[in-house]
Amino acid sequence: MGRYTGPVCRLCRRVEDKLFLKGNRCLSPKCAVDKRGARVAPRGMRRRRLSDRGLQLREKQKARFTYGVMETQFRRVFAAATHMPGVTGDNLVQLLERRLDNVVYRLGFADSRANARQLILHGHLQVNGRKVDIPSFLMRPEDKVAWKQRSQGLTPYEEAKQKQLAFLPGWLSMDKENMEGQLLSIPSRAEVDVRLDEKAIVEYYAR
Ligand code: SF4
Repeated sequence: MGRYTGPVCRLCRRVEDKLFLKGNRCLSPKCAVDKRGARVAPRGMRRRRLSDRGLQLREKQKARFTYGVMETQFRRVFAAATHMPGVTGDNLVQLLERRLDNVVYRLGFADSRANARQLILHGHLQVNGRKVDIPSFLMRPEDKVAWKQRSQGLTPYEEAKQKQLAFLPGWLSMDKENMEGQLLSIPSRAEVDVRLDEKAIVEYYAR
């Protein structure tokens, strides 16, 4: 199945939660979930209660939609998490957070992970001085991400430079003057503010 290209607010309503996929709009009164509530049953129909399996599936979809990862790739990330030492759920979140598109979003270079993905695919960014155009590129501690010289001065760069970042996670650092970010350490689960029940995802794949 290809990448979802429809209205992203529908994804939030589908999983009945805010996934913050549209940048500033998600914090405004225009947010579809805030305005109309999470998904409701069609008129005249009662809402069905989700089974345990349904709840597990919903958590897996929430993670996929939040990080913009397709099904097959998500399955691969989960498999990698199971082979790492430690708690599988925590490993899964760490692997998703270390993706280059997520780091670019967290640094405020883009206002959503989808926009971060576009910047990377269009070759505007480099890691440790070398062009990387793979959104799923896995960042390691001490890796630095910056704008390519020829992309500096373009609108996305200027917008990112003007932006005041409300929050920068402790596992990242940012040199605003040079518009360069660095991954300081592997994030612990407690440092990741995504509302996700990763245990349910582990149970989903355990069956
Ligand atoms: Fe989801 Fe609201 Fe953002 Fe739309 S505006 S993506 S419904 S959080």
